[in-house]
Amino acid sequence: MISINSLTVKYNETEVLKNFSLNLDKGEIYSMIGPSGCGKSTLLKVLCGIKKDYIGDVLYNGEPIEHAKLSVGYVPQNYGLLDWKKVEDNIYLPLMLDKNKKVKETEVLDILNSLEIEDLLKRYPRELSGGQKQRVALARAFISQPDLLLMDEPFSALDAFTSSASQKLFLRIWNKYKVTTLFITHNIQEAVSIGRHVLLMGKVSRNLIDNIDNPTFGVADSDMEKMQLANTIVKKFEETV
Ligand code: ADP
Repeated sequence: MISINSLTVKYNETEVLKNFSLNLDKGEIYSMIGPSGCGKSTLLKVLCGIKKDYIGDVLYNGEPIEHAKLSVGYVPQNYGLLDWKKVEDNIYLPLMLDKNKKVKETEVLDILNSLEIEDLLKRYPRELSGGQKQRVALARAFISQPDLLLMDEPFSALDAFTSSASQKLFLRIWNKYKVTTLFITHNIQEAVSIGRHVLLMGKVSRNLIDNIDNPTFGVADSDMEKMQLANTIVKKFEETV
């Protein structure tokens, strides 16, 4: 669905991504992990069309991404909610902005229900906990039914318990709607829990070190195997330093 070939991105003269290539298949979920500053957010900026001055090809179904009719959902670290709008207005914002997009009321209710936020609709973001804000941000992303969902360390500001609960809720709803997703994290356990494919980014290479199919994805009671995979990933990083 998304095909990135020999992508090079610079800020001034400094190369942040170099000859980067990656394919994202429709309905799949990819987690990306790499050290701070290795270009993960820059890649998201290219995919959501904010950064346009790059070298190489970034295609959506064969068409340059700038010209393609691609709707992108984005969930940032700080939730990205509008403080002056109530939860319900935040959630419906993408639909208000794109009048062509129609979503069934039953689906909206299902998403609100799955994320346990039906009772929060009349509140303002300042009246929510971090975990609640995150669930509102997820609801907004799923209700807009994007072709591509980009998530930039969405759970990193949450405490460990809330983060773990949010991961589970997210995976539950993802499994229902299977939106093509690129999920960025700096937490190896999270990368292994969320991604069916785990992409390892290197800072020195400014490119992917590896693209690992995660055999534990969706497998119940696979904590031990997930831990082993996380250890393998740590070793791969150490070998590249
Ligand atoms: P990551 O998300 O992996 O932490 P980023 O994509 O945010 O990495 O940044 C990659 C590199 O590009 C870093 O060295 C960062 O300082 C630099 N960078 C990011 N944005 C800009 C910018 N707007 N201008 C100049 N340098 C930038």
